[in-house]
Amino acid sequence: MSRIIVVSGFSGSGKGSIIEKLLENNVDIWLSVSDTDRERRNATDRYTFITSDEFQSNLKKGSYIEYNRYGNHFYGSPRKPILEKIKSGYTVLLEIDIWGKRQIEQDLDLKRLEVEIISVFVAIDANTLKSRLLGRGDCENEIQKRMQIAREEARCIGEYDYVLINYELSDTVRRLESMICGKSISSDDFDSDLFREEIVALLGNDGKE
Ligand code: 5GP
Repeated sequence: MSRIIVVSGFSGSGKGSIIEKLLENNVDIWLSVSDTDRERRNATDRYTFITSDEFQSNLKKGSYIEYNRYGNHFYGSPRKPILEKIKSGYTVLLEIDIWGKRQIEQDLDLKRLEVEIISVFVAIDANTLKSRLLGRGDCENEIQKRMQIAREEARCIGEYDYVLINYELSDTVRRLESMICGKSISSDDFDSDLFREEIVALLGNDGKE
C-alpha cells in the first residue's frame, strides 16, 4: 500500500534535522518540497521560494494538494509531484502543519489511490523551544509569533498517530525509522496544557488569551 508520512511539529522542535537524517538513510522516502512566499532564512532552507503573486496564482489553478497561511506567509505542497511519486511506489514525506494534515486526510485523489496516511508530531518543552528559536537567529517579534502559534498547535496534538518528544536527535530518528518500517513504537506523553501554560509564562503579558 502506498503511504504518506505527515511530519508536523512546533517551529524550532528540530523536525528539519530529523527529516534530513531520515532521508540520508532511506532512499525510498521522497520529501515533498513546499512552495512558500516567505524569505529564505538560511542556505539549508528546503523550499521553493516564490512571490506572493505566484503563490496566489498557483492556488487559484488548484496546484496545491494542501496549503496554509502561517504567520504572514503562505506555504503549499504541489499536488502533481506528490501523486507521481506515490504512483511510482515511494513513501512520500510531507513536512506540514496541522491544518495541512487535515486537508491531506480529506483529499479525494489520495482516497481514490487508497493512500495510507500516518501522522507524527514532533514536540519539545516550552523552554527548549524558546532557546532553539533564539539560537536560530529569528527576530524577537518572529519568535513571539512562532511561540503563539506553537501554543495553538499544542491544542491539536491528540489528532496525531504518534507524538515524539525530540530531546536526542539520533534517538528520535531511530524511532521514526522503526515506525516507518512497520515496527510498533510508543507515542510519548506530552502534557499540552502544561506546555500552553509555560508558553504564556514565557511570553509574559503578550501571551494572555
Ligand atoms: P518555517 O517558516 O519554520 O519553515 O515553517 C513554518 C511552518 O509551516 C512549520 O510548522 C511548517 O511545518 C509549516 N509548513 C511548511 N511547509 C508547509 C506546507 O507546504 N503546508 C503547510 N500546511 N504547512 C507547511
